[in-house]
Amino acid sequence: MQTSTLKQAKLVIEKPPLFEPLDPPSRLLCGPGPCNPHPRVLKALSMQEIGHLDSAFLHIMEETKTLLRYTWQTNNEFTIPVSGTGSAAMEACVCNLLEPGDKFLVGCNGYFGHRLVEMGHRYGASVVSLQVPWGQIFSAEVLEEHIRKHRPKVLALIHAETSTGACQPLKEAADICHHYDCLLVADTVTSISGVPLHIDQWNVDAAYAGSQKCLSCPPGIAPLTFGPRALDKLRKRRCKVKNWYLDMNLIASYLNKNGSRSYHHTAPINMCYGLREALALVAEEGLEQRWLRHERNALLLWKGLAELGLECLVPQQHRLPTLTTIQVPKGIQATAVTSYMLQNFGIEIGNGLGELEGKVWRVGLMGYNSRTEVVKTLLVALQTALL
Ligand code: PLP
Repeated sequence: MQTSTLKQAKLVIEKPPLFEPLDPPSRLLCGPGPCNPHPRVLKALSMQEIGHLDSAFLHIMEETKTLLRYTWQTNNEFTIPVSGTGSAAMEACVCNLLEPGDKFLVGCNGYFGHRLVEMGHRYGASVVSLQVPWGQIFSAEVLEEHIRKHRPKVLALIHAETSTGACQPLKEAADICHHYDCLLVADTVTSISGVPLHIDQWNVDAAYAGSQKCLSCPPGIAPLTFGPRALDKLRKRRCKVKNWYLDMNLIASYLNKNGSRSYHHTAPINMCYGLREALALVAEEGLEQRWLRHERNALLLWKGLAELGLECLVPQQHRLPTLTTIQVPKGIQATAVTSYMLQNFGIEIGNGLGELEGKVWRVGLMGYNSRTEVVKTLLVALQTALL
């Protein structure tokens, strides 16, 4: 009689003790993201699985793309969810739109510009990093001067810099880029659906976002859009995209609704459900209403902070309504306050990142969490923590 191979193999790692069913603590997420998902998104995430080539799923994918076009205000056919977090969609822009040796100008006015610089180097681009102090934005004059000087193939700007809370205008930047035959890539991770954003009217060539900020969906799926100039650049590449997983030529053949829908990788089905529901909520509310809600609640926060004697890092005309950086007053240890708020109120706010570590707190009022009652709760907790 044949003995089972199962019996022959002896386990070398012992079975761990029994774990209780998962029960994460309840938190009010008012940091730089993630924020609390909308309850309808959480429900969508737990809906039953269907196959990723099932026509019912492909229909959901088409709905998601339509809703994304509305949210970004674009008619770009190539508007898709990338499997991965915001950094995956960021990397998709870098690896598809740049070829080795291409000049890549990156606006670095905070943490995330530096991530783009790092990615550009890894894909062999000739990277020029354009710097202004963290918290400031780039003027059209500065951008034009450097575009004229360096003649980049691609300029990348962070529309909403989550490390500083500054909002970078894009319209003039796009006009300058096109005058010099350069593509504009915009990071809209912390602006999508929370801050006015018009991809087509502003002529932005490519943009990416994350799901976990103003869309109020968990992290793990990342919107990406390529306009006609970006697609042209992709089509005319001299060499293959150096990242197989993020090669948009390959992904396009799965997502193209008129094509064969050939398999590339298994789509993260439930994350797609979540994003679809999050975007449906954006459309239900209406973009203008949603932008106004973010602005109204940010104004309430800024008024409350001023009453507590706290100052914001970014001047109000460039300040994001979705992410506020508060200057840490002298003599206060920044992390003591964030820990106090988490431990005593279950409220998460963010510490400073990079150059701003220890100097600012980061408060996010994004998507579902941009509510009056959230602002009031947050201000009471912050006041208590500062006593
Ligand atoms: N860009 C910006 C402006 C961000 O705020 C973030 C994340 O917070 C990213 C890119 C990277 O996104 P992710 O952390 O989802 O990979």
